[in-house]
Amino acid sequence: MRRGPVVQPKVLIDGPMTVKELASRAGVPMAAAVKSLIGMGIMATVNQTLDVDIARRLAAELGATVEEPVKTGEEHPERLAVQEKTSKFLRGRAPVVTVMGHVDHGKTTLLDAIRKSNVAAHEAGGITQHIGASVVNWQGHRIVFIDTPGHEAFTAMRARGAQVTDLVVLVVAADDGVKPQTLEAISHIRAAGVPMIVAVNKIDRPGADPDRVKRQLSEQAVTAEDWGGDTVFVNVSALKGTGVDTLLEMIILISEMQDLKANPLRPARGTVVESKLDRGRGPVATVLIQTGTLRVGDAVYAGASVGRVRALFDHLGQRLDQAGPSMPVEVLGLSEVPIAGDPFEVAEDEKSAREKAVQAFSERRGDQAARPSVSLEDLYSKLKAGETKDLNLVVKADVQGSLEALRSTLGNLSLPEVRVSILHTGVGPITQDDVMLASASDAIVIGFGVRPDPNARRVAQRERVDIRTYQIIYEIVDDITAAAKGMLAPKMERVLAGKAHVRAVFQVPRQGSIAGCYVTEGKIVRNSEVKVVRDGKTLYEGRVDSLKRFKDDAREVAAGFECGVGVDGFNDFAEGDVIEAYIMQKVEREA
Ligand code: GDP
Repeated sequence: MRRGPVVQPKVLIDGPMTVKELASRAGVPMAAAVKSLIGMGIMATVNQTLDVDIARRLAAELGATVEEPVKTGEEHPERLAVQEKTSKFLRGRAPVVTVMGHVDHGKTTLLDAIRKSNVAAHEAGGITQHIGASVVNWQGHRIVFIDTPGHEAFTAMRARGAQVTDLVVLVVAADDGVKPQTLEAISHIRAAGVPMIVAVNKIDRPGADPDRVKRQLSEQAVTAEDWGGDTVFVNVSALKGTGVDTLLEMIILISEMQDLKANPLRPARGTVVESKLDRGRGPVATVLIQTGTLRVGDAVYAGASVGRVRALFDHLGQRLDQAGPSMPVEVLGLSEVPIAGDPFEVAEDEKSAREKAVQAFSERRGDQAARPSVSLEDLYSKLKAGETKDLNLVVKADVQGSLEALRSTLGNLSLPEVRVSILHTGVGPITQDDVMLASASDAIVIGFGVRPDPNARRVAQRERVDIRTYQIIYEIVDDITAAAKGMLAPKMERVLAGKAHVRAVFQVPRQGSIAGCYVTEGKIVRNSEVKVVRDGKTLYEGRVDSLKRFKDDAREVAAGFECGVGVDGFNDFAEGDVIEAYIMQKVEREA
């Protein structure tokens, strides 16, 4: 993106206002406003109220564009009938921004700096409340920031089908450079397909090296404009407030290019970004309104929760009667606490809200059950059904070298049936974040020389994400190739079936050594693979070739029973040995 002209301030003129208020909305010093008024032949103090006409003229005099208030429901009793698609009702809306980046790179500090330096004067009385999102007024332009930094919230919401972010600010500390979570964030941003701005933070630090950040990011194909790329980089010091204005200006410029619009006239629809149960106030949800206008008294539903809006509060804790597109508001009046990511909607009345909530809930549950749950084994049927042509992968490996090798091998894989794309790679065990990214992006997770941690397993089971672990690169290639052709054999895993203790050893002619055993756990199965363990060490691995209960052959012998066990090729049993039997089991996915 080329850097355009300086952003022109916008002023919302929604009624008579004081000189002070107008100056603050336009982001100009009060003295400049008074001076312009004098130029217009009007002597006024900062606290004097201007009528709408004069306010408009003054705004123009100050070089600001006047923003007309959008008429809402009151003037349009047929509000419920106004359809969103009617483009003539579409109006510009504020961008919604999420801040991401590695831990300690300054995300929270940057959000604080932005909030502090840009609270408009007429809002200064209000103390910022934590409602999960905040609104910044910069030179008359509103920008909404989601307060929870990091990619957990971002991805969790996306996994639930909600995309609220228009733009991401990726924070990278200039003295620390690109780190694993920076890379993770890039993958999340790409998977979501939203534009990003890089804020190179901590430039006040002695060790700051912004060029190194540019170099490292260009290796990830995130290239700065002055290096021939199209990503905007802004050097900032969140601590000192340096560069924050430039960052905000860039956010406005990029979001203007996105041409974000919504219809404020229709009934509101949004997404729950935060929720809690408040002792005094009952269920409280912060809802980001994405289209339409929400008003006190509206019948609403979100997730399984229904109600009538009892009160609305903005991020300064001020009561509102209504809230339009891109506004984060605290909503009181819901029957229970919805979950972040739940869609929030207005219904005609409470009865239909209740019906719709039930319907949405069961649809979602149905969805969940019928969820495509991308797995390598199902790939073929999906390809055949034309449901997909893509195989998205999240790849974790033990060392950087393995990743490089995997990237080039998988990158060179040319299969006519399927397009393989790697959404994210990283070194280290498979984590919950990897699984959430996969879930949000219909991907499968591949671990090379690494395994999922317990949280990742739990989440994978819940989100029905296929995790596959490998030790050999070509097995990955083989599996993907076979899956694309519908020839992938189910994944088998060796599991412990049972244990038996050797209590006596018999030499049987022609059969060799037979162990007289007592089964202590599970069961011993004929033909199963066994390990003979002595003093904790595996002495021999083979197959059960004879299994007898007394004189009779047995198919299996369960715990609590005695049996005679012969192991193919092993004649060395000793009293006290432990026989461990294993069977191969088809595994659906990592559990
Ligand atoms: P987060 O984990 O990304 O939210 O990082 P924080 O905002 O908590 O910041 C981590 C540490 O870096 C804190 O001690 C901050 O004071 C410090 N920090 C953040 N931004 C800057 C900066 O611009 N300059 C300097 N010198 N320190 C900063």
